[in-house]
Amino acid sequence: MTFKNQKIRLIMELRKLGITSTGVLAAIEKIPREIFVPKLIANRSYENTALPLNLGQTISQPSVVAFMTQSLELNRDDRVLEIGTGSGYQTAILSLLCRRVYTIERYKKLMFSAEQKFTYLSLHNIVTKIGDGTKGWEEQAPISNIIVTAAASQVPAVLADQLAQDGTMIIPIGDQFEEQYLVKVTKKKKTFREKKLMPVRFVPLVPGKTK
Ligand code: SAH
Repeated sequence: MTFKNQKIRLIMELRKLGITSTGVLAAIEKIPREIFVPKLIANRSYENTALPLNLGQTISQPSVVAFMTQSLELNRDDRVLEIGTGSGYQTAILSLLCRRVYTIERYKKLMFSAEQKFTYLSLHNIVTKIGDGTKGWEEQAPISNIIVTAAASQVPAVLADQLAQDGTMIIPIGDQFEEQYLVKVTKKKKTFREKKLMPVRFVPLVPGKTK
């Protein structure tokens, strides 16, 4: 099965939805989403929808992945901390646009599967950790860009602390069955600015033990 035409259609749709970053569009063109999607529904890989993963989790909608990545405004030299590896698709996209991605997932099984995909695609600038992402990654702080791919009721204080000066964090805020918004947090001289970007729907960020 070839996905070439479906991929071109998706990229055109993303452009219409306001994705203007050529880097982000090129990364979406390059990373095969079909290997991150469960085999049984791989034929739907280039629909602009979220799809179910194992363990009740989801692979995010391509337009949301693109929008979050674009909003991080990455430079080649940046290091990114990602909370919620899930399938690893968002991680793979990020890895093409920055120096290193540190990614944390609480489900071992999801992480093992994501790691296999990173190896298969020869993405060597991804560092993984199984753990509670609400605690961040102390050894790597301060870090210029943080992306959270699960929804929190508020910005986790530890993550805000680990964000570098002039850094950017993109995080969905809101409770599971209520309205959630993608929020862009910027840190300037120890003060934080929050800007609501758009309504979204994410699985919850769950603190505590790994599984
Ligand atoms: N970007 C991913 C989205 C995965 S869904 C993708 O496109 O595939 C969100 C992920 O966050 C889930 O895999 C979930 O297990 C993980 N998660 C939730 N709470 C977490 C926490 N406290 N620490 C680390 N990962 C967490």
